[in-house]
Amino acid sequence: MKQFKTESKKLLDLMINSIYTNREIFLRELVSNASDAIDKLSFAALTDSSVVIDQDDLAIRVSYDADARTITISDNGIGMTAEELEENLGTIAHSGSEAFKAEHGDAQGDTMDIIGQFGVGFYSSFMVASRVRVVSRAFGSNQAYAWESDGIEGYTIEPAGPGERDGEDDHGTDVILYLRESTETEDTDRFLSEWGLRDLIKRYSNYVRYPIQMMVTKSEPVENPEDLPDDAPHYVDHQELETINSMTPIWKKRQSEVEQSDYNEFYKSTFHDYTDPVRTISFHAEGAISYDALLFIPGEAPFDLYSEDYEKGLALYSSNVLIQEKCADLLPDYYNFVRGVVDSPDVTLNISRETLQQNAQLRAIAKRVERKIKSELQTMLADDREAYEGFFENFGRGLKFGIYNSYGMNAGELADLLLFYSAKEQKMVTLREYVLAMPEGLDKILYAAGDSRERLEKLPAVTGAVKRGYDVLLCTQDVDEFMIQAMRTYHMDAVAGDAENAGTDARDIELANVSTADLDLATEEEKNAAEQATKDNEGLFNALKEALGEKVSAVRVSASLTDAPAALATEGPISLEMERVMMQGPDAGMAPRAQRVLELNASHPVFAKLTAAQEAGDTDKLALYASLLYDQALLVEGLPVDDPVEFAKNVCSLM
Ligand code: ADP
Ligand code: MG
Repeated sequence: MKQFKTESKKLLDLMINSIYTNREIFLRELVSNASDAIDKLSFAALTDSSVVIDQDDLAIRVSYDADARTITISDNGIGMTAEELEENLGTIAHSGSEAFKAEHGDAQGDTMDIIGQFGVGFYSSFMVASRVRVVSRAFGSNQAYAWESDGIEGYTIEPAGPGERDGEDDHGTDVILYLRESTETEDTDRFLSEWGLRDLIKRYSNYVRYPIQMMVTKSEPVENPEDLPDDAPHYVDHQELETINSMTPIWKKRQSEVEQSDYNEFYKSTFHDYTDPVRTISFHAEGAISYDALLFIPGEAPFDLYSEDYEKGLALYSSNVLIQEKCADLLPDYYNFVRGVVDSPDVTLNISRETLQQNAQLRAIAKRVERKIKSELQTMLADDREAYEGFFENFGRGLKFGIYNSYGMNAGELADLLLFYSAKEQKMVTLREYVLAMPEGLDKILYAAGDSRERLEKLPAVTGAVKRGYDVLLCTQDVDEFMIQAMRTYHMDAVAGDAENAGTDARDIELANVSTADLDLATEEEKNAAEQATKDNEGLFNALKEALGEKVSAVRVSASLTDAPAALATEGPISLEMERVMMQGPDAGMAPRAQRVLELNASHPVFAKLTAAQEAGDTDKLALYASLLYDQALLVEGLPVDDPVEFAKNVCSLM
């Protein structure tokens, strides 16, 4: 007997010994494997002239034997050689299980729910079976092999016995489950019945493209036999092979004909998600290119969405044959979270990835797909704000990267889908809402960027702006400011019709960091006062600048500070937040630094202290003040002081 690999053992153990409630998914997993195996054969037949099959014969069969307590799932798909049995069933190395491993390497604890989240594939059979026998014969081979295991220690692989797939062309696979006895917590008996299996097939595998057949008992009324003279109708039972699943691909149906719960079930079983999608988009095209498309916006971000391993793409079918599981060309990167299916008889079948990319038809479909997604998101934003905010929380970061990565070129497409937290409204707003609510005299969209909303709300530049009646968008995601720099301006469409704000013209509005030095939010009066203060205190500013040296590029009066004695502003393209983000990155050493400007509030009592020291010619004190003001401004920004020991010493010397 061969031993299972350690990680396989761990997972098996978890699965078998858990009180996992959703054991019934085993059938879905096995049926989907059978369907995959038929797909593979059917695809081979279309692309390889040496593979000849009758497409109409392709089917999955489910049967049970209540006395022997077995369920058998058979397919006439591609089958497996002995080597493939070993490779595919001997280790956990396949999609669902792989994902499980990646996420939860050594996780213990609440693992049961986790198992439910990922398809665990073939191994799920051990949730209900104490022994599993897989008899498989690869297409084109004369010999079937049997893999068998109790799901604990290991498995055996041997040539199959007599009567096991030894007929002519008997390719395909039988998975035979030896069910455990029912217990209080686990009713396995229900699977050993016609209704039990029918229920599972209908619920989990209804849209599998191949017929899932089962022998069922049918009762039919018969003419009263002569020896029974009464009038009561008589029935006789007979066995009949019935196709249980509806088979019509759900994407071919009109959305109005399908229950949302059916879409949800299809989505969850096909894309291995455990939450319902938030939006379902179905559309059909006829004409130069015909196709059916069914798209879903997931309710949760997949755990690997932002990792390098994540593969975007829609499943591409041509006349019911799966061409590519994840056709990346059908989705732009910024909509990479969308799952779904495109089925077009016009897409050429014998395609390699390269020719696919050049496929003009595919490009046309992709364009329409993109438009549909956008309009669905816009509808959601307009009609169901709460759901949209949830969506944005999950996937907003990807949209932002879409703008950043394209150097702002995608901004036109995506800017209206963005949400930002408004300091004034204390809720999420769109750029358009910001602009429409903008007070007279402001011609910029103000934002502040930093690592937490709480801190940003207290920044002098933000409180100052809000006090003046301006709103500030608080950006806390690492990509935010890079995206904003890439887009620079927001293009707002005109407000048409008789909507509120109708007549507002289309225009481009600059996005400005509220902490940039040249931002000019003050009133004329305040500006004049600041100018006067600058003129009057030239000596002071020179002395302060001298004391701070390279740390700042200038020291000056700010006209816009209200409560704080001082604040840091920046000049040039790099803000403090961008500096912070880049310092965490791999190229920290080479990251450009923000050009800092120390801004002082001339109407704050501290300013009087400064001028007094300057008048008294006390350069030491002035240097001490300069250093303290600079350090506390850093702290307020959430940045570390350059020299904490020095800072502590300075504070003490004041006391
Ligand atoms: P997944 O389906 O995610 O790849 P599974 O654990 O369900 O993972 O199956 C593991 C592998 O075993 C499959 O990828 C496939 O290669 C093989 N396999 C399972 N069932 C069958 C079958 N009925 N016919 C052919 N191959 C199969
Ligand atoms: Mg599988």
